[in-house]
Amino acid sequence: MRDYLTKSNLPVSDYVVNPYVGCPHGCKYCYASFMKRFTAHDEPWGSFVDAKMCDKPINIKKIAGKEVFLSSVTDCYNSAEEKKERQMR
Ligand code: SF4
Repeated sequence: MRDYLTKSNLPVSDYVVNPYVGCPHGCKYCYASFMKRFTAHDEPWGSFVDAKMCDKPINIKKIAGKEVFLSSVTDCYNSAEEKKERQMR
């Protein structure tokens, strides 16, 4: 079962949530572009955004009192957000 929450090894958080694979920005300084190797995309980093489709909601009890980092390897407030929301309705 896929989960939006991923246990984090970052010193600043207990969990991370990356709702997208990829990012539309392609910043020159991006430290997350290595994520492309875990996708099937041939396009350059910054050219694709795939919404993660998880089959269970985030367990609020699990993150109570924990630090949750939104978007360690994407931008969760990107321009595709509105379009993806409409597709899911
Ligand atoms: S993940 Fe962040 S740094 Fe990388 S391209 Fe997206 S917005 Fe830029």
